[in-house]
Amino acid sequence: MNIYLDNAATTPLLSEVIDIMYETSKTTFGNPSSIHSFGRKAKSKIEKTRKLIAKYINADSSEIIFTSCGTESNNMVLKTSIDKHNIRHLIISEIEHPCVLNTALELEKLGKIKLHIISVDNKARIQLNDLENVLQNIKGNKLVSLMHANNEIGTMMNLKKIGEICKNHNALFHSDTVQTIAHFPIDVKDININFLAGSAHKFHGPKGVGFIFMRKDSKLDAFIHGGGQEKKYRSGTENLISIVGLGKALELAYENMEQRKQHILEIKNYLKKRLEEEIEGIAFNGHLINSLYTVLSVSFPKRFTSDMFLFSLDIEGIACSGGSACSSGAQKASYVLQAIKHPKDRQTIRFSFSHFNTKQEIDYLIEVLKKIDSK
Ligand code: PLP
Repeated sequence: MNIYLDNAATTPLLSEVIDIMYETSKTTFGNPSSIHSFGRKAKSKIEKTRKLIAKYINADSSEIIFTSCGTESNNMVLKTSIDKHNIRHLIISEIEHPCVLNTALELEKLGKIKLHIISVDNKARIQLNDLENVLQNIKGNKLVSLMHANNEIGTMMNLKKIGEICKNHNALFHSDTVQTIAHFPIDVKDININFLAGSAHKFHGPKGVGFIFMRKDSKLDAFIHGGGQEKKYRSGTENLISIVGLGKALELAYENMEQRKQHILEIKNYLKKRLEEEIEGIAFNGHLINSLYTVLSVSFPKRFTSDMFLFSLDIEGIACSGGSACSSGAQKASYVLQAIKHPKDRQTIRFSFSHFNTKQEIDYLIEVLKKIDSK
């Protein structure tokens, strides 16, 4: 049996997405910048997708910029907003994805900003008071970059409240929403947010395409210079086929959001219950309510700490992750688990779900875990 429980790393492409990408590849090869009919046809597909994203997040289509991935989106926001808005202080949490964390550290190393890193509690939440305190005590333009949901353990932050705090302190607000776009409704008119980042492969779209929302009154600067595509913000001939795939995946995600959520929640709760029943000493990381329904981060007791644990699951056909799978797959202590003070003598495994998972798969996983436990 092959079971995929690593959907926070990436999700399988939907057949509808494959079909439209294949169809588009056959019928639409023009360069979207060409003014002839081939180019115009390609361009209109890009603009259609831009409008679709804007519709779903309640933005204006002029506020959407296509990029190559979530990493690029976050880099672009952090790096170009600094100069554009004369930012002196950048505020992040200690559990941001490496594409935010490492970019922030680099900007500090270059002397461009003073970096303020807010700690999290043992459930991976920042205290909003801590954010207020930092903002109160600094002078000069500020950018706050806080992720909507943590990719390793699933804890979610309240964007609306953070947005209000940022507004009260005249700070720009960016959120890495890569794990939540197309899984939760996000309304950029309801939240005081200036920028957000999305990535298609986290919601059953293709890899290598993402986007930024950039509020009209808080624009960014060009990130890639060249022929002036994407209104000069991000030059380079657009990845038309993937943009079309992103659009289809987004459309399906929004049409089926509630059904998918209910199904996935059932799977997650079923796994949690069965683990509690069958594996002695089990615990769960992060906040269990304010959490991604797609992620269950499980802390296994000492007897599971062997380096071979993940490998044994893999041998049995179960794909999951020992931490964040975004980087290299290397088994080193995760900074996120360190931040929540996860005991060193326990082993964390992240199971992450999609609407394709079934209870039968969870039953099989439990049998495999029991087998490993009995060895
Ligand atoms: N931000 C978060 C929270 C993520 O989980 C990931 C990928 O796992 C990224 C950013 C990077 O996205 P991409 O893989 O599209 O570069």
